Amino acid sequence: MTLWLTMNVLVSYLVFGTRLGTAVNLGSVLTMIVSVLMNGPLEASNMADWVTAIIVLGGTGLIAFNVMAFIEQNLSAHQQTSQRLQAARKDALTEVLGRSATEEELERSIEQALKNRAPLSIIVTDIDHFKRVNDVHGHGTGDDVLRSFGKRLRRSVSTSGGQVGRWGGEEFLVILPGMARPDAVVVAERLRAEVADEPIAGLNVTASFGVGSLRGAEDNAEDLFARADSAMYNAKRSGRNLVR
Ligand code: GH3
Ligand code: MG
Ligand code: MG
Repeated sequence: MTLWLTMNVLVSYLVFGTRLGTAVNLGSVLTMIVSVLMNGPLEASNMADWVTAIIVLGGTGLIAFNVMAFIEQNLSAHQQTSQRLQAARKDALTEVLGRSATEEELERSIEQALKNRAPLSIIVTDIDHFKRVNDVHGHGTGDDVLRSFGKRLRRSVSTSGGQVGRWGGEEFLVILPGMARPDAVVVAERLRAEVADEPIAGLNVTASFGVGSLRGAEDNAEDLFARADSAMYNAKRSGRNLVR
């Protein structure tokens, strides 16, 4: 009986954790005491058994409580570390991926695409005449535009597994795993319209877009980015608010 109760104590801490486990165990000890009291006065020989049982239970409970508390503390420290790491990957202003996380993500996506023999495309986008936004409306409004611009890109591509990062200033990178050029051009065209058709932070803003697609094993992140960036500059030269 004592052995069975001891197992109960251990299992309840394992299943319920420290707080609920303690509550469950206190509850069962109380139930035991109440049932002993309700069954009338105890004989001396029985009494010794009960005292032993209670001491063993108390000891096991204490050990189990401490072990669980130790495990829980470690788990929550681990969670905090991984949350901090996640936050460090983000750009502080726009909350899309920051520059170095974007570069890492691009390298990782290329590796994946080559390994799975899957297509991969990227879009480089840069807000048109952004300097004017700052000059006319102030740097604070400029920051608001950057935040909303990043959010709009992310909302639009995240459902299809796309990733958004801030490359620098008002230039962003969209990574589209599994997409060949024709599909990526459609996405870029949709993004262009979503930016141009609805005011961003209360202002009419447009952006230029350049699409680049992975060519094969001899291709690399630098060349892929350079092609998309040069396509984006082509869109600027051709009049802005365009996809190239
Ligand atoms: P274009 O259409 O050719 O891209 O013209 P542009 O004015 O957008 O480009 P330009 O490179 O001349 O200006 C970019 C401006 O972006 C200049 C810089 O002050 C501003 N900028 C860069 N980073 C930030 C930022 O974090 N916040 C704000 N508010 N402005 C920024
Ligand atoms: Mg610009
Ligand atoms: Mg720029």
